[in-house]
Amino acid sequence: MSTKRDYYEVLIVAKTASQDEIKKAYRKVAMQYHPDRNPNNTEAEEKFKEAAEAYEVLSDPDKRAQYDRFGHAGMNGGRGGFGGGGNMNMDDIFSNFGDIFGDDIFGSFFGGGRPGGGGGGRRGRGTRGSNLRVKIKLTYEEIAKGANKKIKVKKYVSCQHCSGLGAKDKNSFQACNTCGGSGQVRKVTSTFLGQMQTVTTCPNCHGEGQIITSKCNHCKGEGRMYGEETVSIDIPAGVGEGMQLSMSGKGNAGERGGAPGDLLILIEEEPHPELQRDGLNVAYDLYISFPDAVFGTSVEVPTIDGKAKIKIPAGTQSGKIFRLKGKGFPSVNSYDRGDQLIQVNVWTPQNLTGDEKDMIDKLNASENFKPNPEKSEKGFFEKVRDIFS
Ligand SMILES: [Zn+2]
Ligand SMILES: [Zn+2]
Repeated sequence: MSTKRDYYEVLIVAKTASQDEIKKAYRKVAMQYHPDRNPNNTEAEEKFKEAAEAYEVLSDPDKRAQYDRFGHAGMNGGRGGFGGGGNMNMDDIFSNFGDIFGDDIFGSFFGGGRPGGGGGGRRGRGTRGSNLRVKIKLTYEEIAKGANKKIKVKKYVSCQHCSGLGAKDKNSFQACNTCGGSGQVRKVTSTFLGQMQTVTTCPNCHGEGQIITSKCNHCKGEGRMYGEETVSIDIPAGVGEGMQLSMSGKGNAGERGGAPGDLLILIEEEPHPELQRDGLNVAYDLYISFPDAVFGTSVEVPTIDGKAKIKIPAGTQSGKIFRLKGKGFPSVNSYDRGDQLIQVNVWTPQNLTGDEKDMIDKLNASENFKPNPEKSEKGFFEKVRDIFS
């Protein structure tokens, strides 16, 4: 364990370096020792793995705090370093590269997180925290633009006094006697086929390889406490009812330095008083008076991003659909955008005075008031047309 280099030294950054500086430094070192550039060079491969290991720790604020406080002793189950160094395989390293070189926000947001909630190297320590579920209700306006929600989540949080490890200090760890620090025990049993050897997790240290000799007083050695955390959730535009997002590592803290669970966020839509969602499109029922339908008019309609003005041409039939292009919802995983469809309903008066009835009667006698759909009415699909507001 003493042969391990300091993580800050490995990445060539100051102890006070920001997350951004650490990311940049790792990128640089990883590029330098990348196996594609150094074929069949075992020394470069070791350096490449060493850098990945250092980054895995320093890029995670919790682990970094543990490392700053306990050094390499705090980083693993006594198996010769964090994940044993060699335990962190190339697949683990490359699976984390998306975050470093790709920055694909949707990939990490929707992909259910990285395997095991955080790549390789975590095996051996503590017990993983469980996932948490929350519901978030969004208005149409919030869905259209995307939203940031800060919510208070009651959950197990990492104990600040021991950085989640459950130990009092640096000297509170001791290699497990039962397994000699390997975290595994071999058992030989006699069967009718002969002697069989099985390997199981050490029951004394639960596979951690080391035991804590004096526990943190604050969390009684558990490394976590029940508390509350305000989580800031960025919700991308275009999500929908029933969709589930996941935030890696924002669930319950693990026990004794175990990886945290994930926070699963279920999306609910708040119904809109006037608009109705239909996939990416938005439907709106517009009512106009009979004279407005005859002479044409200009009306204001609600949309998911404010009001819009549309022109109703003279002679508009009831049932006609106007389309406001691009005024629908954005797609959550492409650049598509829906439209707003406005269906015109001509209001038929229901309470008329005697005079009004006489006037309507007179109009009804005119040839022009006889319905003539052949000439003026288009089929349903032709009704959908663009309009410029
Ligand atoms: Zn053990
Ligand atoms: Zn504690």
